Amino acid sequence: MMRGPTKGGVRYHPDVTKDEIITLAALMTWKCALVDLPYGGAKGGIVCDPTKLSEKELEKLTRRYTVEIIHLLGPHIDIPAPDVFTTSKTMAWIMDTFSMMKGYTEPSIVTGKPEVLGGSKGRKEATGRGVAIVTGELFKALNKNLKGARIAIQGFGNVGSYAALFLSQMGAKIVAVSDITGALKNEDGFSPQELIDYVEKHGDLGKYSGGKKISRDDLLYLDVDVLIPAALENQIHSGNAEKIKAKMIVEGANAPTTPEGDEILNGKGIYVVPDILANSGGVIVSHLEWVQALSGLYWEEEEVNRHLERKLTKSFKEVWKKSKEFNVSLREASYIVALERIAEVYRYRGIFP
Ligand code: NAD
Repeated sequence: MMRGPTKGGVRYHPDVTKDEIITLAALMTWKCALVDLPYGGAKGGIVCDPTKLSEKELEKLTRRYTVEIIHLLGPHIDIPAPDVFTTSKTMAWIMDTFSMMKGYTEPSIVTGKPEVLGGSKGRKEATGRGVAIVTGELFKALNKNLKGARIAIQGFGNVGSYAALFLSQMGAKIVAVSDITGALKNEDGFSPQELIDYVEKHGDLGKYSGGKKISRDDLLYLDVDVLIPAALENQIHSGNAEKIKAKMIVEGANAPTTPEGDEILNGKGIYVVPDILANSGGVIVSHLEWVQALSGLYWEEEEVNRHLERKLTKSFKEVWKKSKEFNVSLREASYIVALERIAEVYRYRGIFP
């Protein structure tokens, strides 16, 4: 709260623990400070298996959760957003419950809402778009050409699919993709739009026939220019980091690399754009959604995308400069930028009382 109201996602999952939520809240603190948003970090969760609950049960659970924590919520206190197994519909229930309890409509209480309730244009694509933007910036910083660069993406959900789409529009070649059902390789490059349409129709890539089947693990070890983990936590670790041949890794997922895995990647000279920078596009556009809801003035998508690009480009350059100044990895440089910003706030505000 030193930098503003707290911001983070609400997760419904059987494995949710208090420690996990505290860790993810801390990550949000660093992420918001790094990209200079006027927020602190937060996270919420309910231990449940949403795949076994009916829509009515999910709605009841969400409304009861909202009432339980209502004293912690508010457009200037804490603003939840969707995370694992929560959606724009979940946000609509939180917004409606909060509004009914307060007696007025409050769209700025959540982000990631449906557009008709004040959601922002461009929010759905924002995280994947951001991954593509920072990948482009890394290529520029290294004086390399993204055109024709070979990219492998682990996870073809919201983040992975839009990262694939925008990177291929920028001239890169998506040579491998995976999801929970398996992995596919195509040296000529996949058409991300075709894959997105396929997943929308069939739910996953399981029966897609446009590439050669490989194992999910083998996708991580391909000799590509860029590997984008965009699925789950802890995918690159001490047991497999040595086998990675990608020259660059751009972390679409939260915490896909363990500290031990990270050390091995650094030792191999692989550039890693860390999660708190690479996937911050989502919270950047969430901030814009909050601003739009507070002001009641809604922006066109081009304006949202322009702002996102400006913010991410600036943040990447700050991190790059810091990594050169201190001769540290992009991850360490990102933490330095974030912590310096938070420390400066403490210096001015002091500690009350
Ligand atoms: P999602 O549920 O839309 O997609 C996840 C994808 O990963 C699916 O295609 C799933 O099949 C695949 N997957 C699951 N296990 C896999 C495995 N073992 N191997 C390969 N693929 C596997 O989720 P998402 O919203 O795209 O989020 C992905 C990651 O990005 C998560 O870590 C999330 O916390 C993080 N993230 C998301 C956002 C956002 O705006 N959506 C923002 C910041 C960070």
